Amino acid sequence: MGFPIFNSKELSNGKVYSLSNPGGRYEYFHAKLGSKIDEVKSFLENNTFVGFMLAKKMAGKGTYAKMLEEILGRERFAHISVGDIVREVHEILVDSSRSAEKKNMRHYLEKYYRGLMTIEEAFEAIENRSQGKISIPTELILPLLKREIEKIGRKALFIDGLPRNLDQVSYSLYFRDLINYRDDPDFFVLVDTPLEVIENRMKHRLVCPVCNTSKSLTYNPTKFVNYDAGQNKFYLLCDNVNCSGYNNARYVEKEGDASGVASIKERLDLDEKLMKMAITIYGIPKVLVRSAVPVEIAHDYLEDYEFQQEYSYKYEDGEIKVSKKPWEFKDDSGVVSNTMLAATYVLNMFSQIHKILIG
Ligand SMILES: [Zn+2]
Repeated sequence: MGFPIFNSKELSNGKVYSLSNPGGRYEYFHAKLGSKIDEVKSFLENNTFVGFMLAKKMAGKGTYAKMLEEILGRERFAHISVGDIVREVHEILVDSSRSAEKKNMRHYLEKYYRGLMTIEEAFEAIENRSQGKISIPTELILPLLKREIEKIGRKALFIDGLPRNLDQVSYSLYFRDLINYRDDPDFFVLVDTPLEVIENRMKHRLVCPVCNTSKSLTYNPTKFVNYDAGQNKFYLLCDNVNCSGYNNARYVEKEGDASGVASIKERLDLDEKLMKMAITIYGIPKVLVRSAVPVEIAHDYLEDYEFQQEYSYKYEDGEIKVSKKPWEFKDDSGVVSNTMLAATYVLNMFSQIHKILIG
């Protein structure tokens, strides 16, 4: 989509940071963003913002939001996923032991829901959503979101999943009014990720069966890579402190991932259309984040430790040998490119958000 390339090297102080752990990221963000962090934090003492995240499925939205929370703090910032809300509502509806919660939700909706379906029909739409036939009406999504935001309390927000369809774009433009954030800034956050990156992330994604963390042998290994001689295969063990005691915390493939993007093609096409539409809308500021940097110029923009690496493994003389090199892929126009670690995406996002809020 032709977004500008972010120059992280401009913010260099010559030091190397470890971007895979919160401590390393803390130093990195503070070194590269300096006083911008405090400026945004003090802005948020009396104000909020609403950022609508628009990116393709598998583009890493959840990860970026989590790292923004690391910078801004949980008391000032929250990430809301419409998908998570709908899943939670579904759980409440099908679990008979949660009837009190269902009742509360119904009371709330009686007050705020206005739509063509009855509340009962709307609940049915949520229960049957996996069949894919009935879609959940926007008139229901909006009060559910409003309710979630009231539960969280007044904070700056990143919303993932609204707009989800083309007709929801115009709703998002008036969303601040609906949640009584009228005078606070809002903006779109658009992350442009090439199809090849999404395809490979999906193909190589592994999940811890205990804590559900996603990792990858190829792009994002844990601290513990092991070798299974019987199968001549390498595998990951979870390095989450709560999982390390479990023998079964061996990462597994997520069902359906191996077939790659074919299974989510329709969603990806719609995500692309949504982003293209969002770019053309006047009046609302946009944070534009580009994933791909042509290999030929990547080292002019990114520091060595910011590159997304591609890992490979060999088993020799009873030892696992790990090698890595910057991951190379073709962007959507066929240019051989590199990309950066999630923390560098967030650095880019934060710089642009600072500009919108502070100027
Ligand atoms: Zn785990």
